[in-house]
Amino acid sequence: MSSPGTVPQTTPGTTPGTTAEAKDLIRLRRIAELRRQVATWRRAGESIAIVPTMGALHDGHLELVRRARVDCERVITTIFVNPMQFNRPDDLSSYPRDEAGDIAKLAENRVDALFAPAAEEIYPKGYQTRVSVPLLSDCLCGAARPGHMEGVATVVAKLLLQSLPDAAYFGEKDYQQFLVVQRMARDLDIPVRMEAVPTVREADGLALSSRNLLLTPAQRDQATAMYRVLTELAARLKDGRTPAPPALAWGRAALGEAGFDPVDYLELRDADTLQPLERAERPARLFAAAWLGQVRLIDNLAVVDG
Ligand code: AMP
Repeated sequence: MSSPGTVPQTTPGTTPGTTAEAKDLIRLRRIAELRRQVATWRRAGESIAIVPTMGALHDGHLELVRRARVDCERVITTIFVNPMQFNRPDDLSSYPRDEAGDIAKLAENRVDALFAPAAEEIYPKGYQTRVSVPLLSDCLCGAARPGHMEGVATVVAKLLLQSLPDAAYFGEKDYQQFLVVQRMARDLDIPVRMEAVPTVREADGLALSSRNLLLTPAQRDQATAMYRVLTELAARLKDGRTPAPPALAWGRAALGEAGFDPVDYLELRDADTLQPLERAERPARLFAAAWLGQVRLIDNLAVVDG
C-alpha cells in the first residue's frame, strides 16, 4: 500500500527535499545495540521518539513517523511481530512481512534507526513476565482475542524500557490498544509522553492496515462498509439523545449484508474508560471488529469528542 489514493487526516507525504537512502538507516537487532545508540544521542542532548510497529509498513505507520519527526530530533521505529499478542498460530504465521520494503520507506521518511529484534531477543529462554491492564483490556478486542492486550502491554513496556524515549507514537486506529499502553506507562511510572495520531484512511474511508494486503479484490470492495456504517451510526447518535442499542443492531445487520461474517462487535463506548454507553452523552466512540473471510478488520470513530 502506498500514499497515492489515501486520504490521511493529517498532512501526508515524505518531507520534501529529503533523499535519505537505506544505507543511512541504522539497523539494530540487539537490545544492547539499541541502548548504546540511545546513549550516544542522549550524550549529544538529543530528544528521542519511538514508533512501535509490526512492519508491513503503510502510510498510517508513516504518519506516526512524521509526527515523531516533528516533535523529536531522533526517531526509532521498531518492527517486531510480537508472538505474545497473537492468540491464533495461523494469524501469526500469515501476518504480512516485508522488511526490504519497510527499510526503504523508513529511510525515505528519515527515520534514524530501525530496531528489529528476533523473538528470542525479546523473549529469551525462561521468560515469564506479563504486564496486564485488566479493566481496559477485558472488553472489545481483548474479549475477542484472549491474551492479546496483555501481549501488547508487555511488549510495549519492554520496548519503552529498552529505549527510554521522550515520546512514543501510536495510532487511533487501535484506540483500545492506545488506552491500554497509556495506562500501563502511567501505572508503571515510565517517564514517556504517549501520543495518539488520527487514523489514516484510503479515499473510500477504509482504515489503512497491514491486514488489508490479505483481502481479495472483492473483499477489498466489501471492506468499505465498515467505515460507511460507522459514519452513518456516528451521525445518528451524536445528538446524545438517540438510544444506541437499536442503531447498533441496524449497524450489525448492515455489516452482515455487506459480507462481514461474523461481526465480533459493534459498540458505543465511553472514550476514556471503554464502558458501554446507552447514548453518546459524554466523550464517546464507536468500535467495530468483523471478519471478511479469514481477515479480521477493526475500526473506530469518535461520536462525541473528548
Ligand atoms: P501495527 O503494525 O499494526 O501494530 O501498527 C503499529 C502502529 O501503527 C499502531 O500504533 C497502530 O495503531 C498504528 N496504525 C496502524 N494503522 C494505522 C492507520 N491507518 N492510521 C494511523 N495509525 C495506524
